[in-house]
Amino acid sequence: MELNRQQYINGKWVDASSGNTRNIINPFNQEIIAIVPESDESDTKAAIAAARETFDKGEWASAPATERGAIVRKIAELIERDKQELAHLESLDTGKTVEESRGDMDDIAGVFRYYAELADKDGGELVDSPVPNSISKVVHEPVGVCAQITPWNYPLLQASWKLAPALATGNTLIMKPSEITPLTTIKVFELMEEAGVPAGVANLVLGAGDIVGAELSDNRDVDLISFTGGIVTGKKIMQAASVNVKKLALELGGKNPNVVFADADFETAVDQALNGVFFHAGQICSAGTRLIVEESIHDEFVSALVERVKSFKLGSGFDEDTQMGPLISAEHLAKVEKYVEAGIEEGAVLAVGGRRPDDPELQKGFFYLPTIFTGCSTEMSIVQEEAFGPVITVEKFHTEEEAVKLANDSIYGLAGGVWTNDIAKAERCAAKMRMGTVWINEFNLYFPHAPWGGFKQSGIGRELGRLGMEEYTETKHIFQNLNPEPINWF
Ligand code: NAD
Repeated sequence: MELNRQQYINGKWVDASSGNTRNIINPFNQEIIAIVPESDESDTKAAIAAARETFDKGEWASAPATERGAIVRKIAELIERDKQELAHLESLDTGKTVEESRGDMDDIAGVFRYYAELADKDGGELVDSPVPNSISKVVHEPVGVCAQITPWNYPLLQASWKLAPALATGNTLIMKPSEITPLTTIKVFELMEEAGVPAGVANLVLGAGDIVGAELSDNRDVDLISFTGGIVTGKKIMQAASVNVKKLALELGGKNPNVVFADADFETAVDQALNGVFFHAGQICSAGTRLIVEESIHDEFVSALVERVKSFKLGSGFDEDTQMGPLISAEHLAKVEKYVEAGIEEGAVLAVGGRRPDDPELQKGFFYLPTIFTGCSTEMSIVQEEAFGPVITVEKFHTEEEAVKLANDSIYGLAGGVWTNDIAKAERCAAKMRMGTVWINEFNLYFPHAPWGGFKQSGIGRELGRLGMEEYTETKHIFQNLNPEPINWF
């Protein structure tokens, strides 16, 4: 497979100026699948300078929005054309099943299409003015130079939520994907070049977070930073961004409750409780890892989950019958193992899993068995902290009030679910749950039209939907007096 394994700065494919490189590893078998540039501050500064100069020239920002929309639409078409190649790369790089990756590519093309359609729909608005014979006009302009930093779990999906609205609104940008999963983002930059994104508008820098990411956060020529990743990194970026009061969009972690009432459809709730966590081995920011189950069905519910989990097929993302792939890295596997150890020490009861699989075929991969803890309570670290792996904690509740209280007992507020056939109860719970998204009889569904983001420490701002586009605009009021006259005060 031909892939330009370089970074893209000012319309040119280039290596790191230092000549340094990084090996990209397949998490299924630890084979090297690509060698990519490993940049430092100087490459990052070059990319920022290109984005700054291109923005300040003004051609892209002032191009008719219809033209920008057409380019964004073309990117969607090219992603659809190269869907199989992109899905293959994503699975190679992340270990997730290729079926999941194909689904991701459909979603990604959908995001570019959605923002292509929105690109020319905002002609500004006239507002009422207190001055006779005047025009009071509110317009939205691009923010300027945008730095975009993405994580490794949904590499291209997270990138698309940032790239598409930034381009549609006329910004220039520097994208820094996670250093361990850059392959599909590199490929999409090729497609953006093919679609006609002008040189200097979209720049790609590859390298470590504490070097490339830190420079992007700190640099005074960057006007906005949009970050998706962990809370610790998010706080560092927030601090660094204060240097020039950058606009900030933060999509951070989640520890998401999934509340199951006894009157829910039992089979569906069991099935969706599994879907809510174990896709991509639980490495999903919105995974419903805090299962909160009504006492009267708790034991039966847990037994049903455990039975299903025991038959999960772990393996290569490229085998058709694989249901769950490996974790992303040895480092991340060690983190999940430590988290499970802490759970056992804290007194949670291991119902299933809690270790690496024995299968000799899986020993080279970073696999971990799907794991369920019962007897959990909110003071446990495993209930409060993100494991970001295939681990569910189960808590019990007796009343609706208690369920909501447990669900809200978190520093996070990304997403949550409620399962019940009582519509009024579902609506009451959804209204009280302090999260950016609440699913009723559903879990983990996103689509371009609906905003995504977190309450509390899950983040600042929203991606997707119209709000995801507004993140990339500044609002300007232009007032024109059509009949100016002296006031004669002084
Ligand atoms: P991470 O915070 O370790 O890294 C994310 C990105 O930040 C990477 O590109 C990394 O190189 C970069 N980075 C690291 N240190 C940096 C620094 N000092 N300055 C600037 N950039 C830096 O996160 P991760 O482990 O890649 O991803 C997992 C996390 O992402 C989880 O917490 C998950 O919940 C979160 N996430 C959130 C959403 C959401 O929509 N809210 C979506 C996906 C993932």
